[in-house]
Amino acid sequence: MSILSLARPEIVALKAYSHASWDPALDRLHANELPWRAETDRSLAGLNRYPEPHPHVLAERLAALYGVRADQLLPGRGSDESIDLLLRGFCRAGVDNVVICPPTFGMYAVAARIQGAAVREVPLKAEQGFALDTDAVTAACDANTRIVFLCSPNNPTGNAIEPASITKLLKALAGRALVAVDEAYIEFSGDTSLTGQLEQYPHLVVLRTLSKAYGLAGARVGSLIASPEIVQLLGKVIPPYSIPQLTIEAVLHTLAPVQLTIQRERVAQIVAERERLRAGIAAAKGVRRVWPSVANFLLVDFEAPDRVLAAARDAKLLIRDMRNVSPYSLRISVGTPEQNDRLIRSLS
Ligand SMILES: *Cc1c(COP(=O)(O)O)cnc(C)c1O
Repeated sequence: MSILSLARPEIVALKAYSHASWDPALDRLHANELPWRAETDRSLAGLNRYPEPHPHVLAERLAALYGVRADQLLPGRGSDESIDLLLRGFCRAGVDNVVICPPTFGMYAVAARIQGAAVREVPLKAEQGFALDTDAVTAACDANTRIVFLCSPNNPTGNAIEPASITKLLKALAGRALVAVDEAYIEFSGDTSLTGQLEQYPHLVVLRTLSKAYGLAGARVGSLIASPEIVQLLGKVIPPYSIPQLTIEAVLHTLAPVQLTIQRERVAQIVAERERLRAGIAAAKGVRRVWPSVANFLLVDFEAPDRVLAAARDAKLLIRDMRNVSPYSLRISVGTPEQNDRLIRSLS
């Protein structure tokens, strides 16, 4: 049975928008663009021209980065758009539901509610280091469950989900629902991506982003990695020209081999700083618990989080209020050594 039997029938039947043809070798008198660049335009291709409707060079470059085939990857405007595309492609408004495992990234529930999909919550087990409750997730799924969202390493808790529990869930939900695993922080963990299991599990979707480890949050580039059937389906839902030309050029520059070497060194530096920051925070007064983290942030429980937020602000630092996780919780991103020192000093 095709995985598309889980998708919205009207999207499966949808005919893709027919965009102006793309042939960079010819002069373009077919898209009603201005034939001249703006005076200030420093781009390679010219911002007077529409970008490639579905940027294949970008998809190929990202596929090489993530070790998958280009037909398994759909680039979008950040993982936020990948999440939205999944919801719009697979969930019938007022009928279908998704399962999330809080505390986790807020966009899964927001995108579901925008699409009119119900949100079922199966909390991670805090007492077991925010482990996945595989049996409870399986039990929460019914015939109208379309997507289970997992985040590994998880935001805001910082732990990775046990690969064995993800495999168990993939087995239990084969043919029943998509399992979307958001790997936004995996570069900081050193763990292996689940993309190696795509052939075995056609209902697996992996989300990657350039926003965290690659320092391109402002460019907005995420990758939805899945079976070619899913990629083709969602390629009809994403608007043509959705990735701006400046973003395409920024990515191709940033992913040049010499840049990648620098990027890996920076990730290693953030990982070292994370451990230094953890030790500094753990030694401060008023700290109840620093949760283990394999990401580029720490979830910390403080006796008086309101005082810590205010002290950080006085030190000109923003940290994240996470009192929805527990009354004590704040999330702190790993910064430069100087910023981390300033944060530690603000605690004393
Ligand atoms: C930051 C983050 C993302 C990245 O979203 P983009 O839209 O790609 O910037 C995705 N998932 C999680 C869990 C995040 O924390």
